[in-house]
Amino acid sequence: MKIQTKTTLLFTMLTATIFLVLNITVYLFMNSYSHTDFNKRLELRAKISAKFRFEQGEVSTEAFREIQKEYLEKLPEEQPFILQLDKTSGKTITPLPKQVPQSFVNDIINSNGRTVFYQTRFRHFAGLLYKDETGNFIVIKSATNRYGSELMQQLLTIKLVTLICAVVLIFTVGMYFAKKTFKPIRDITDSVKQISQLNLHRRLPEQEGTDEIAELTRTFNQMLSRLGTAFATQNNFISNASHELRTPLTAIVGEADYALGKVRTVQAYQQSLQQIIQQAGVLQELIKGLLSLAQTGFDGESQRMEIIRADQLLFDVKENCDAILPGNKLRLHFDNLPAAETGVSIKGNFDLLKVAIGNIAINGCKYSGRGIVTLELIPEKNWVMIVVKDNGIGIPANELKHIYDPFFRASNTKGYDGYGIGLPLSVNIINLHQGTIDVKSVVNEGTTVTIKLPLI
Ligand code: ADP
Repeated sequence: MKIQTKTTLLFTMLTATIFLVLNITVYLFMNSYSHTDFNKRLELRAKISAKFRFEQGEVSTEAFREIQKEYLEKLPEEQPFILQLDKTSGKTITPLPKQVPQSFVNDIINSNGRTVFYQTRFRHFAGLLYKDETGNFIVIKSATNRYGSELMQQLLTIKLVTLICAVVLIFTVGMYFAKKTFKPIRDITDSVKQISQLNLHRRLPEQEGTDEIAELTRTFNQMLSRLGTAFATQNNFISNASHELRTPLTAIVGEADYALGKVRTVQAYQQSLQQIIQQAGVLQELIKGLLSLAQTGFDGESQRMEIIRADQLLFDVKENCDAILPGNKLRLHFDNLPAAETGVSIKGNFDLLKVAIGNIAINGCKYSGRGIVTLELIPEKNWVMIVVKDNGIGIPANELKHIYDPFFRASNTKGYDGYGIGLPLSVNIINLHQGTIDVKSVVNEGTTVTIKLPLI
């Protein structure tokens, strides 16, 4: 069932329930009022009847008749009953009419002169005890509340009809408004159906304002932008990767072709093989980097995480750098290390973090012509901060935003070895550890990379 139908049904049911409860309350109230009012009228008649029957000597009979005729209309099917009671036993002497139940008579006898009411489905009774020197009597007046019943019946019919009309009206109007309200959502659904990976540039028509629909449209458009960028990056990555892989492969095939072109000297063969080995090494490095990049791009659940000390990590990074770039001037700075081990303990994968920080440290050494590079550990309240600072060639300001793109190399790196994979790999690893990375750089002045990793 569509949400608009569900909403309308719910709204209709809610309103109908409120209507029904209100109507029932009004009906019950009116019904009770009609009975009370009728009983009062019956009581008045019973009292007048008693006076008329027993006190006609004291006031003129004519006067009573006048009052009754002038002020009291006759009630429908009005019947009077007068029962005499035995003075000693207090029981009725007059035979009980069949309409009057014994329990009602008993209630009147025990009522201490108050009027007692009794009611069958259509008939109302009002009875009272009357005592005088001639004896004790029970005076009963009975009548049917025909007008009241008819009125209540009419009221019930009106209420039922209005309820049904109201339900139909509310449902129709509700459906109209629900359709109107959900139209933008239907439009969005229609537009989204038209979008595929082939036309990711398309956007939903944005609406003014801050309502939910406008926000949904904006969110969709932002998501499409992100998807577009992701697709473009992926396509770019694939074309860059194939280009980078093709270059050494072409060199290998070319060199082998050249060597096999004719019979050559042993020295020439050796030279060709050297070339092939060198290009194969480049290929190996590239494939290794690409594999790491792909692996660290996942969610990280497959990586083994352990508690590691950041200072130990940096010692290992330094050791690794010394092995790869002998004679480098990488300096460790551990000034304000906390006494407690927990102040420098992080949760992570030691080998991956060593690769990430190692790449950044090696870049520092590489792009500063083996100048001095500092690798500093600064413990903070919730983080450890690792700062790698060099005074090398720097990165042009307009190219800074691209340095995390795989295979990107800044325009001033000609003459420096590299493939543009190290930094994206480091970023993936740092993200995997819920850390952050920030690069500040000025051309010909140097670069500062700040990594923050959460403490355990
Ligand atoms: P590469 O193998 O080219 O060093 P990276 O992915 O490690 O690849 O770095 C990407 C690019 O970022 C580099 O080509 C370089 O232009 C720039 N870069 C990174 N670190 C530095 C640095 N310390 N000094 C200057 N440029 C840097």
